Amino acid sequence: MVQLFAIMLGLTFGSFLNVVIYRLPRNLFFSKSRSFCPHCKYQIPFHSNIPVISYLIQGGKCTNCAASISRHYPIVELLSALIWGWASFNYGLHQGILFIWICSILLAISIIDHETFIIPFPLIISALLGFLVYIYFNPTEWRVSFWGAIMGVGYLSLVFLLTSAIFNKQTLGLGDLQLIAITGMWLGPVNVLLSVFISALLALIIWGILSLFKGFDRNRAMPFGPYLSGSAILLYVLDIDLLTYLSTF
Ligand SMILES: [Zn+2]
Repeated sequence: MVQLFAIMLGLTFGSFLNVVIYRLPRNLFFSKSRSFCPHCKYQIPFHSNIPVISYLIQGGKCTNCAASISRHYPIVELLSALIWGWASFNYGLHQGILFIWICSILLAISIIDHETFIIPFPLIISALLGFLVYIYFNPTEWRVSFWGAIMGVGYLSLVFLLTSAIFNKQTLGLGDLQLIAITGMWLGPVNVLLSVFISALLALIIWGILSLFKGFDRNRAMPFGPYLSGSAILLYVLDIDLLTYLSTF
């Protein structure tokens, strides 16, 4: 019952996340207007603002101008429901709230970085505040978070310097380093290294596939945020204890 409630809340929270994803990079965050169609500016009435369902009923089109609505709206709502559901099934209150907070921010960062190549600083600060509150209630956790951030930023800086030297251009942004500090605090010093490794590998594979289909372009820009975020959530959910695993050899 609690889980069902969490999933419903997750769907609704997903709608709010969509607003953040749309407004934050456009500096519209504090504008008072209700949700509107980005194409014709038609204000979306309350009854067609139901997560996922409205999208399906309208066939993914605006009721006013019939412009197609980006698929990422219902996808974000569904992922948000999944995040809330997973948290309510698997974690206690504090860890669950932190999980929802961090995953939601990572989801927003992934889509914004994918669309605009920007990782908004307010989202980094929001995640950091989440950790501070969590550590206030769970003070013994500070050590893992502290060393996780140090290791993450250190290792990614090394990757950044090496790849920039090899490709002779800036390969990562400052936003990526801020992001790894956040996922490092969440994953701890061991798994954050694994996360950087998996992200780089995935990005390389996707880059290879894109090069095959769209032609080789050494200047093709690829946002790294979605890979860092995705691998962090995957490692957290799988809960791999690398040290224990390695010590069995
Ligand atoms: Zn419209």
